Amino acid sequence: MIASLEEQLKDKLKEVFGYSSFRGTQEAIIKNILDGRNTFVIMPTGAGKSLCYQLPALILDGAAIVISPLIALMKNQVDQLNAVGVNAQFLNSTLTKTEMNRVKRETLSGEVQLLYVAPESLTKEENIEFLKKANISFAAIDEAHCISEWGHDFRPEYRRIKQILAQISNMPVIALTATATPKVQIDIQKNLQMEEADIFKSSFNRENLYYEVRPKQHTKKQLVKFVKSQKGKSGIVYCLSRKKVEEIANLLQVNDVKAAPYHAGLDAAVRIKNQDDFLNEEVDVIVATIAFGMGIDKPDVRFVVHYDTPKSLEGYYQETGRAGRDGLEGNCIMFYSYNDIIKLEKFNKDKTVTERDNARVLLDEMVSYAESSLCRRKQLLHYFGESYEHDCNFCDNCLKPREKFDGEEYVQWVLRAAMETGERFNLAHLVDVVKGTPSQYVKSYGHDALSIFGKGKELEESLIKSVVRQSLLLEFLEKDIENIGVLKVTAKGKDFIVDPFAIKLSKDHEYDVEVTEEEED
Ligand code: ADP
Ligand code: ZN
Repeated sequence: MIASLEEQLKDKLKEVFGYSSFRGTQEAIIKNILDGRNTFVIMPTGAGKSLCYQLPALILDGAAIVISPLIALMKNQVDQLNAVGVNAQFLNSTLTKTEMNRVKRETLSGEVQLLYVAPESLTKEENIEFLKKANISFAAIDEAHCISEWGHDFRPEYRRIKQILAQISNMPVIALTATATPKVQIDIQKNLQMEEADIFKSSFNRENLYYEVRPKQHTKKQLVKFVKSQKGKSGIVYCLSRKKVEEIANLLQVNDVKAAPYHAGLDAAVRIKNQDDFLNEEVDVIVATIAFGMGIDKPDVRFVVHYDTPKSLEGYYQETGRAGRDGLEGNCIMFYSYNDIIKLEKFNKDKTVTERDNARVLLDEMVSYAESSLCRRKQLLHYFGESYEHDCNFCDNCLKPREKFDGEEYVQWVLRAAMETGERFNLAHLVDVVKGTPSQYVKSYGHDALSIFGKGKELEESLIKSVVRQSLLLEFLEKDIENIGVLKVTAKGKDFIVDPFAIKLSKDHEYDVEVTEEEED
């Protein structure tokens, strides 16, 4: 009797990977690839994306190309697959001529099932010529958000992948990522010319993670106290600079915490030792720059602290995602100060105008997240295009709610400002219109003549800003996918204008902008 496809997949899963069942949508994704369809997988870190392309590669004839941005990650996967008897190889600049020839020979003879290729190797003419001769089953593009300038990890060479694959053959493509805002998602699909792809998007909600933002005041004292309260549990403390990493690792050490630093400026041997010590629990806390963590699979990280404010919510989500992978407790604490935002902006001063503008939008989202007193989980999920109706009751804002106020009228003003200006403007412009600030833009568009102009002249500008953001979360406003920053009124918002109802809004946190660096520390 011939085994059904389901049985065949299950057997492979057991035989090669040692698992008895698929997780989430893995099986549906695998079947989709086996059907030769373009597939787009958006799943949080740790959900099991690799299996989605590894398993079909074992079933289909020929080699699957896997493109991944980090050589270390590729090597890891290749080693693991080789250990269970799968012929997986990689093609990158670290190979000798002899090794390269062997990999190519085995690929052409059909022995290789997964061929991992670094993006820069893929662009080499000789490799393209070789791949044209090989039998390729499909291409998997891991960390696909690297395609988008709107993601947190842009790699220009990723933007050439599609064009090169097209030269090789007309193979199906599977793109995978653990973070994609709606904007990034569209970018990926456009760039890979897979607008018609089947999308498998899992929820980004990590129920077991507790999110908290604290003002950056007496930060060192707060940090030591927090880490000590964790009594030997595993944790990661992220800092912005190498210097800070050293300083904080030292601070924890003198406070009897088993801590070690990790950053790209350390000797490779030291870096690897510190990482291993952390994985083997010789060290409880790793203090690191964001260079640490990609591909680290430690299930019992109990806390992730951001000592410095991160530069994007995508990065933040990704980094906090390293906590509580085993589904148990995970504390995510971020220290926030507007000074950090200013510092981050300074880092961008040598970038092009577009890059700077992009970075600014990401920073604005961070400010909005940190200063808001709304449910953090709701905000994070909303950022990734997911609606989350209720408050989570498991974040600082839910557990310590701020004072609420009647906001119906203010929301109306904001929505009307968007409507009357033709739904073509950004947050700052809408705030100017409601507040009645005759900025250059406002005047040049004649918006100072609108009836809505200055309706909220008694309100603080920061309050109007907050009303706009809350209107976004209420889904009365939405971001225009094509035009960054532009806010449009949703159908729900239009209904609200004609038929309003009582709405309670939350006051933002008032962080002290004037905190000096000494106080921050
Ligand atoms: P991602 O790439 O989404 O971050 P990985 O592919 O690294 O996740 O998988 C995370 C972990 O889950 C790995 O240790 C992997 O072996 C494990 N895993 C994947 N699929 C399954 C499954 N069906 N059953 C049990 N464990 C699985
Ligand atoms: Zn909450």
